[in-house]
Amino acid sequence: MQEKAIDSQDRISGLIKDFIRTSPLNTMQDKTGEPAWDHALVGFASGADPIWQQYKEYIGPFHWTPWEIFTQYHPQEGAGAQDLSVVSWVLPQRGPVRKSNRRARKYPSAEWARIRVYGEEFNSALRRYVVQSLREAGQPAIAPMLAPSWAIVQSERFSYASSWSERHAAHACGLGTFGLCDGLITSRGKALRIGSIVGKIPIQPTPRPYTHHRAYCLYFAQGTCGKCIDRCPVRAITESGHDKERCQRHLASTREYVRRTYGFEGYGCGLCQVGVPCEAGIPVKEARKVLERGEIPPPPPPLA
Ligand code: SF4
Ligand code: SF4
Repeated sequence: MQEKAIDSQDRISGLIKDFIRTSPLNTMQDKTGEPAWDHALVGFASGADPIWQQYKEYIGPFHWTPWEIFTQYHPQEGAGAQDLSVVSWVLPQRGPVRKSNRRARKYPSAEWARIRVYGEEFNSALRRYVVQSLREAGQPAIAPMLAPSWAIVQSERFSYASSWSERHAAHACGLGTFGLCDGLITSRGKALRIGSIVGKIPIQPTPRPYTHHRAYCLYFAQGTCGKCIDRCPVRAITESGHDKERCQRHLASTREYVRRTYGFEGYGCGLCQVGVPCEAGIPVKEARKVLERGEIPPPPPPLA
């Protein structure tokens, strides 16, 4: 028998939070038995939101709209953009994991590297679980990051980018804005992993409680901070932004360190995500208050 349609914010948020609470895959895979994650922020956006077209102009024409990725895998549905919704979730790093990486000066802590591998494996399982639950309720869905056609693409503006950005999906779903280091700053900070799915679900979008895509970063909001510049061990962050290639080279170099020091196949860095004012919350007081008061400012201008 087909399940009742999963068509409310509460039901989808409930699915995600139940999986975090009950799945045996939610583990650091170490002897502490600690879970990788203990919470999720969940947001929603319409497939017809103009922001998806803006992303095409800003990131590149290769960045999928929800309709483009959905119809690649479900063409028989004949869905229009307005029939689709994006569900995005943010998994904030737990306090002990952040604390351990705060002490790091060049390479990640063992806990952080574990989350990068095992926490992300859980995140992929969560994507599959949400898609499967929707399908069982008669609602086709796809996780763009798990789609075989997802690819990393050369980009003139960003040196490289991909067909679907989890951070941009989360921004569209009202969950946060970008920092100087390129990370997404959310109400639970910037130390996090993100997931999303696109489904044929009639669901109320989450209002975006910010007027600018960098509203939560002190550097852009007030011209102060820049602490992530100092935290980066390889100078991949400057006042001009984030040098992705330099960052990636460092990430690749951490594999050898993690294997030799911690004895498992992993990697990671995230030093710029901890020991900074945006580690676990929104550091811009005014923006934080707007969110706390539940105010909805006018729609932000296009990304630039
Ligand atoms: S550390 Fe400061 S400058 Fe860097 S992203 Fe966070 S708020 Fe912005
Ligand atoms: S992840 Fe590491 S290397 Fe990359 S910008 Fe942040 S601190 Fe620098």
